[in-house]
Amino acid sequence: MQTGKGKGIRAVIFIAAAAVLLISIGIYNRRLRDELGTQMLDTLQNVAEQNALALEREIQGKQNFLEGIARELQVPENGEEEDVIAGLGDVAEDYHFKRMGFVYPDGQAYTTDGYKQNLSFRDFFQKSMKGETYITDVLTDSLGEEEQINVISVPVYNRENDQTAGVLFATYRTEMFKEQLNVTSFSGEGYSLVVKEDGTLIADSPRSPMYGKENLFDALTEGRDENETATDEISPLLKSGKSGGGSYYLEGKRYYYCMPMNLSMEEGRWFIFTVVPAEVLEAKVNPVLKDINTLFAIMVMVLGIAFCVYVYSYQRSKKDLYSLAYQDPLTCGDNYACFQEKIKRKKDVPGYIISMDLSEFKIINNTCGISKGNMILKSVWEILASEIRREELAAHINADRFILYLEEEERKQVEIRVKHLIERISGLSETMNVPRVVPYFGIYHSDDLSEVETNYSYASHARHQVKGRRDQNYAFYEESDFQLMLKNRRLEDGFEKAIRDHRFEVWYQPKYSTSDASIVGSEALVRWRMEDGSLVPPGIFIPLFEKNGMIAELDEYVFRTVCAQQKSWLKEGKQVLPVSINISRASLYYSNIVEKYRAILEECEVDSQYIQLEITESATVDNKEIQDLIDQFHKAGFQLLLDDFGNGYSSLSSLNEMHFDVLKLDKSLIDHIGDRNGEKLLYHIVNLVKSLGLKITAEGVESKEQVGFLQKLRCNDIQGFYYSRPLPCLEYEKLL
Ligand code: C2E
Ligand code: MG
Ligand code: MG
Repeated sequence: MQTGKGKGIRAVIFIAAAAVLLISIGIYNRRLRDELGTQMLDTLQNVAEQNALALEREIQGKQNFLEGIARELQVPENGEEEDVIAGLGDVAEDYHFKRMGFVYPDGQAYTTDGYKQNLSFRDFFQKSMKGETYITDVLTDSLGEEEQINVISVPVYNRENDQTAGVLFATYRTEMFKEQLNVTSFSGEGYSLVVKEDGTLIADSPRSPMYGKENLFDALTEGRDENETATDEISPLLKSGKSGGGSYYLEGKRYYYCMPMNLSMEEGRWFIFTVVPAEVLEAKVNPVLKDINTLFAIMVMVLGIAFCVYVYSYQRSKKDLYSLAYQDPLTCGDNYACFQEKIKRKKDVPGYIISMDLSEFKIINNTCGISKGNMILKSVWEILASEIRREELAAHINADRFILYLEEEERKQVEIRVKHLIERISGLSETMNVPRVVPYFGIYHSDDLSEVETNYSYASHARHQVKGRRDQNYAFYEESDFQLMLKNRRLEDGFEKAIRDHRFEVWYQPKYSTSDASIVGSEALVRWRMEDGSLVPPGIFIPLFEKNGMIAELDEYVFRTVCAQQKSWLKEGKQVLPVSINISRASLYYSNIVEKYRAILEECEVDSQYIQLEITESATVDNKEIQDLIDQFHKAGFQLLLDDFGNGYSSLSSLNEMHFDVLKLDKSLIDHIGDRNGEKLLYHIVNLVKSLGLKITAEGVESKEQVGFLQKLRCNDIQGFYYSRPLPCLEYEKLL
């Protein structure tokens, strides 16, 4: 059987293993996501770098192209300008410039589309006059159709003196520039932005939701909390000019951006961002992630199911184990182990522990069969279970034994409830059509319920006090009873040793002739000499030994001792008178007792005339076998005395049936002497007994008056304190 501890350890191992597995899967999943994310951003980075490079090359190409033309350009003489410029018209068209133009050092400009205007205020003019190749931010065209433009400008040198002789410029529509910013990768969903350090959008794509906005930061911060970090990340990127990337939200959609490097414009850096909607980028990663998530979910589910199965089977086996350990198989109610467990939890609540069993339940089992017996036990259980309250307990111990715990304060109340139980259980014999079902209850009030065993033994002890009685079916535990029980047990335990050590002494109480007060014989009475020298009278231990069967051994011991004593007196030539020996009823049941006693007699070489046997009145009641025994004893030569006549079960008919030789009048009859009716009774008994041919010995005679009366009645012998108490062997010998 698996122990509870073992189960607990297994559960812990299972949960730990499941947790480790889940965590590993979780970590692996996370790593995979990160890995995929990194790969995704790497792709974005590559694309961004290529875009930036392409754009830079484009601008650089245009600048180189302009520089090339500037080198070849003849600075037009006054009046020739228009012709020279007109010569550039085709170039401008071929390269999709809006226009090209030349600006004289004084700012006077001539353009391919026929404008003649002073542009000295334009930055590009001023920069290129200083020798710079320049590209402007987005400007609004001040010449032709009002639209956004960018201008690339280069200085034109005078070949003779290398002085700046003017500025050549090309204007193109920002619109055109923007078209180049639409990235063809990412299925055409990506685009680029060109931004200045302060966030000014030089150019962006029409695909971008911030298209038309002037500043990147403004566009990002427009009511969007989620872009706080994006702004915080982008701003230092622009300041440092280092490459980097991240994501931001626009119109509820997430976008990844990457800024690989900046274009090195001499004044005001341009930063190229490549931007892709997150969904586009993630579209590649998501199916993989989805598969992983599905796998993860399946694994979690499998684990979950396994765990549920485990918990279920654990609970079941726990339940099985519980019923195995705590359920009584017959009644399906609590067993004793369960009772013990439950009552321990009630340690501080005083109550009554009750031990119950059925009288002679064996008879029911034998006569009605075991299954009927079991049915009765079940019915008894049902009655007990129905009569206890929620906080009270009941359990079947084994066979016909039950235990109860009643949480009552008043002894009276317990008595009422027990009586009710007796009534209901006794009623089973009628309802179930079986011989007498009689319950017996022993009740013990306990303050300390944790001592279950002890409490139960006290209650059982009380039950034993009434077991088999017809007038009472329950008893409360009394301390004195218990002490007595302990004492008795000690006596029982000491019996064998006492026999071996000859601690049983035979005392002799002489019997006197009524007529002349001479000693006619004696009765052997046993005493137990204890180690401390004290004497225990037979009234204490004889009933005990009669119950447990030890009496047969003790009677034989006394018989043998008396025979041996008689023999030694005979040998010594002393006066030898008959000694009567008490034979308990229980001894009579032992087979060939007659044969055995005869053999002892022979062994001791003592004549049977010196040994008489006393058998108590009660032994003769409803026992025909005894009649037989008496005859056998007679044949063996023993005289038989009917002891204790008049005490309890006096039956005159037995006098006739059993052939006793002597009748011993019990002390209880002798005590009536002095009382008129008692004396009359004695008178008639004596005459009746005499008429049956029996001799009479009066026992327990203590007074002169009693002696006088018995003399008048012509009783044969007298035994009593009046003449002598029982005497130790030596004293009796002296007396003789
Ligand atoms: P019992 O056989 O009826 O013995 C007579 C009892 O009455 C003895 O008690 C005796 O001491 C007592 N007795 C005699 N005269 C008087 C008297 O004048 N006044 C009073 N108050 N008592 C008197 P004891 O010796 O205590 O024995 C008690 C019983 O124990 C005996 O009653 C007998 O039944 C039983 N017993 C004693 N020895 C043996 C034995 O060896 N075997 C068996 N089986 N029973 C024995
Ligand atoms: Mg006797
Ligand atoms: Mg007697």
